[in-house]
Amino acid sequence: MKLLSLGSGSGGNATLLQSGGTTLLIDCGFSLRELESRLAKADLTASCIDALLLTHEHGDHVKGAATLSRRYNVPVWATAGTSRGCKWHQDSHIHHFHANGASFRIGEVDVTPFTVPHDASEPCQYVFQANQKRLGILTDTGCITTHIVSQLQGLDALVLEFNHDINMLEKGPYPPFLQRRVGGNHGHLNNCQSADLLRQLDHHRWEHLICAHISEKNNAEQLVRDAVQGVDGSLNERLQILEQHGPSQWFAL
Ligand SMILES: [Zn+2]
Ligand SMILES: [Zn+2]
Repeated sequence: MKLLSLGSGSGGNATLLQSGGTTLLIDCGFSLRELESRLAKADLTASCIDALLLTHEHGDHVKGAATLSRRYNVPVWATAGTSRGCKWHQDSHIHHFHANGASFRIGEVDVTPFTVPHDASEPCQYVFQANQKRLGILTDTGCITTHIVSQLQGLDALVLEFNHDINMLEKGPYPPFLQRRVGGNHGHLNNCQSADLLRQLDHHRWEHLICAHISEKNNAEQLVRDAVQGVDGSLNERLQILEQHGPSQWFAL
């Protein structure tokens, strides 16, 4: 199994996951043209995408989803709430599942959705399993629940939101209502919350900790590194930071 981010942050999110002959795209928060250009930088084309999985209906996750699906005939997997939020009531291309429902399989990948507290209709995040490897993705989450902790046990790698630093958010450029939204229980994880989650997970055998959805205005790479270092210095060697403005390398596991 391997993973590549095409970009991560409030300006747009899209992540490719590949195992054997199956290629999944998780979220499509870029216009189709932008997605194609980022795929090209990674020597890929959109025709390689077998399925699109959505986490929730916010624009930074679904901006190009409908166009991608139509243009390339890509089936979409989403909760009923997400597809309602996207106003896609009639679309026959959508496979619905419950945010906390059973696992399902797409090609060679087992997909387990789990529910998260975020200000969207029926948001979920995912654990993917293939070839005896388990990879978790957790972004766009306001607080850590016991359910999230139980879903993320036994992983080999985790993509984890480090959205903001509390002090930078308070002193930053966001208006008060937006500060409350981002910092609230249905907003985004701050560095301390993500570090607390790491303490609750057995991360010793992880091959990668991939830090995602980092705010360009309310966080700094060094603060993320410090937060991880505070949990376990050995994680720093396996730590990767995703960029907003371009694709990452492939992370293999
Ligand atoms: Zn987001
Ligand atoms: Zn969101």
